[in-house]
Amino acid sequence: MSFSKQAYEYSENILSEYRRQAAELAVKRTEEIYTEIPEIKEIDDRMAELGAEMARTAIKGDPEKIIEKNSAKLAELKSKKDEVLKNHGFPSDYMTNVHRCGLCGDTGYVDGVLCDCRKKIMSVYDLAELNLPDNCGFDNFRLDLYSDEYDEHYKCSPRSHMKHIFEYCKSYAEDFSENSENILMYGKVGLGKTFLCGCIASELAKKGFSVVFKSAYDIFEIISKNKFNYKTDYSEDIDRLYSCDLLIMDDLGTEFLTEYTHTALFDIIERRLVSKRPTVINFNLAPKDVETRYSDRIMSRLLTFRHLLFLGDDIRARTLR
Ligand SMILES: [Zn+2]
Repeated sequence: MSFSKQAYEYSENILSEYRRQAAELAVKRTEEIYTEIPEIKEIDDRMAELGAEMARTAIKGDPEKIIEKNSAKLAELKSKKDEVLKNHGFPSDYMTNVHRCGLCGDTGYVDGVLCDCRKKIMSVYDLAELNLPDNCGFDNFRLDLYSDEYDEHYKCSPRSHMKHIFEYCKSYAEDFSENSENILMYGKVGLGKTFLCGCIASELAKKGFSVVFKSAYDIFEIISKNKFNYKTDYSEDIDRLYSCDLLIMDDLGTEFLTEYTHTALFDIIERRLVSKRPTVINFNLAPKDVETRYSDRIMSRLLTFRHLLFLGDDIRARTLR
C-alpha cells in the first residue's frame, strides 16, 4: 500500500459523497427531461419493459432468441433517445453523465485498479500530512539568495550552479516516472536541499504519485519500532517506505550509525532499486564524508544515483536580512 490508511479512508468518504451527489443529480436531470420532453419518458418506460422481459426469459430458459430480438429493439430505442435529446439541445449522455470522474464513476477503481482520481485525492491528503511550508513550490525558489561571485574551485558561481540544480529538480518533478533517476543531494546545511525536495514532493502529489518524505531519523525509528515493539503494528508504515512511488529521505548522515541502521539503510535502497522505485537521499555532508561514513556495499549503490552538490552559504541567514 503506497498511500496511508488514513488517505484511503479519507478518499472513500470523499468519493462516497461524490456518488451521493451524482445520484441526486441523476434524479434531478431525469425529472427535468421528463417534464420538458415526455417522449423520453415513453422511450425509457419501453426500454425498462424490454429489459424486464429479457430478465424473465433468462430465468425461464431458452432466452437467446428473445435476447437477440430485444437487444436490437433496445439499440434502436437508445439511438432514438439520443436523437430526441439532441433535437432538444441536450447531449445524449445528459441524464447519465453525472459523475465527477467519468472513468470510474466515482468508485475510485477501474477494473480493480486504483483510478487516477482517487490517487490524486490520496496523494494530496498525504502531502498535507507532511506539513511542508506554505511557500513550498518551485515558483518560490530564490536563486538570488545564492552568491553570483565566481568560485575558482568549482569554476562557476554558486548561483549559476544552483540554477542547473533547480532546473534539474523541476524537470524531474515534471517528467517523473518509475524510470526516473535516484538522486543524492549533498552539501552544507541551509542550502535549500530540503526545500527543493519539498517542491518535488508537492508537484508529484498533485499528480497523484504517492510520496513519503521523512527524515532519516524517523525512517530508522519506524524500522526499529517495527522490529522491537510488538504491541503496535508498523507494517503499513514499513510497506509505504518500500512501495511508495518516491521516497525522500531527508538529512541522512546525522543518524547514530550502528550495524542495525547500516543494514536497514542498505535494505531500503536495495529493495527500491530492484523494484524500480526512485529514491531521493539528502545529506548535510560533503561527498568525502559520505564515502567514509558508509560501507562499500551501500556506497556501491549510492554511486549509481545522480549526484547533486549544493553550493553557497547558508541561504536561511540571508532571508532574514
Ligand atoms: Zn476516477
